[in-house]
Amino acid sequence: MSKLYFYFSAMNAGKTTTLLQSDFNYRERGMHTVCFLPAVVAEQWNPVITSRIGLSRVPIVLKNDTDLMVIMVAEMAKQTVSCVFVDEAQFLSKRHVRQLCRIVDRLDIPVLTYGLRTDFQGELFEGSRHLLAWADHLQEIKTICFCGKKAIMTARFDGFGTKVIDGDQIDCGDNDRYISLCRKHYDSVENNHDFINLSAEHGAAQPGLQSCNSAGQVAGQVDLQSIAS
Ligand SMILES: [Zn+2]
Repeated sequence: MSKLYFYFSAMNAGKTTTLLQSDFNYRERGMHTVCFLPAVVAEQWNPVITSRIGLSRVPIVLKNDTDLMVIMVAEMAKQTVSCVFVDEAQFLSKRHVRQLCRIVDRLDIPVLTYGLRTDFQGELFEGSRHLLAWADHLQEIKTICFCGKKAIMTARFDGFGTKVIDGDQIDCGDNDRYISLCRKHYDSVENNHDFINLSAEHGAAQPGLQSCNSAGQVAGQVDLQSIAS
C-alpha cells in the first residue's frame, strides 16, 4: 500500500539533499523514478534540482495546467515507476496535491514531497496546507536557530537589513535575504543589527543573512555546526 509523504521544514534544513539522496538510492538499485518541480521555481531560479552533495536531477516542470495523473499514466506505459518525488512542494496548487493523492491511491506509487511549511509571514503555503491536510505521513526535517532551538520560522530581510513584514508570498528581489529562526527570535529580531547582537549573545558564529535567488531560494547555506557551537 503506497503512501503520500510530506517532509517539511523551515529554510535550509537540507530538504533537497534528502530528496536527491533518496532518489539516488532508488536509481542505484535499477528502479525508475519521476521528479517534479513547480514551474515558479524552475522558471525563476533553477530548472535542475541540485544540492551541495553533488547530486542533481532534471525534473518534469509542473505548470498550472499540468495533469500529473496524465504524465504518470504515460510514464507507467513505458516502464514501472517505483517512486515519485516533488521538490519545493510548498508551491503546489491544491489541484496538484489532489492529483498526487490519486497517483498514490489509484496507481499505487509512493509519492515523496519536500517543502517549506510556512512563508516569511508565518502563513501556510497553498501546497503545504493541503499536504499537511491529506498526506499519509508527515515528517519534519529539523534545522536550528542561532540559539540552538529548533527553527520553525523563515524571516525575510530587505537590502537594508530590516525584517520584511508585508509583501508577496513569492517575491524575492536580489536584495532580499532569508534566515530560519525559532518562533521567539522570529518575533524579537527586527533587523540585521538585532540578529548580529543576539547571535553573539548566544555564542553563535555569525552566519550572515543569505542571498536569495528567487522564489524563496537561497544561494548559500548556514553552517549549522557553527551556529550550534
Ligand atoms: Zn532562537
